Amino acid sequence: MNASTATQLNTTTGVSRSGYDLAALGPELRRQLAQSLTPEERQVLLDHATERAFCGRFVDNHLDGLYACRLCGLPLFRSLAKFDSGSGWPSFFEPADPDHIRYVEDRSHGMVRTEIRCRRCDCHLGHVFVDGPQPTGLRYCLNSVAMSFFAGDGEPAQYIAAAMASASSPTSIP
Ligand SMILES: [Zn+2]
Repeated sequence: MNASTATQLNTTTGVSRSGYDLAALGPELRRQLAQSLTPEERQVLLDHATERAFCGRFVDNHLDGLYACRLCGLPLFRSLAKFDSGSGWPSFFEPADPDHIRYVEDRSHGMVRTEIRCRRCDCHLGHVFVDGPQPTGLRYCLNSVAMSFFAGDGEPAQYIAAAMASASSPTSIP
């Protein structure tokens, strides 16, 4: 797929278009954050497993709000872009910020798919397919356990990871 929009990151500052610090998590911080994961979350986020269809807690979540990375808190998708794909997994037609998603070719299971990962912590989120609705024609197919949901206008802590890593990180707010 054409993921060129994901490469327009401001590499000078490492800050996404919506103002989030995308500096990669070091292995030690990633390990610390992963200690809070359940076994199922660990299997999906770290070991690239897929949760069973129609079982995830966000498949039928119709509340307004924001979905963020379960591990590092980076905003990933907004409820405005969520649609019922009938696939059994929460589905979105566009990310909250294209800079927050990394695209990786996935040739596992005898298929060629495009895996999506969190741009900041590199955790597995799901896959993206080209059979989605307009305006993008894309279907971002997510594992519920890969995300945290913040209802209403709630935003995840801007720098969950960065705050743990270093008090000297830049903290520009969009
Ligand atoms: Zn993340």
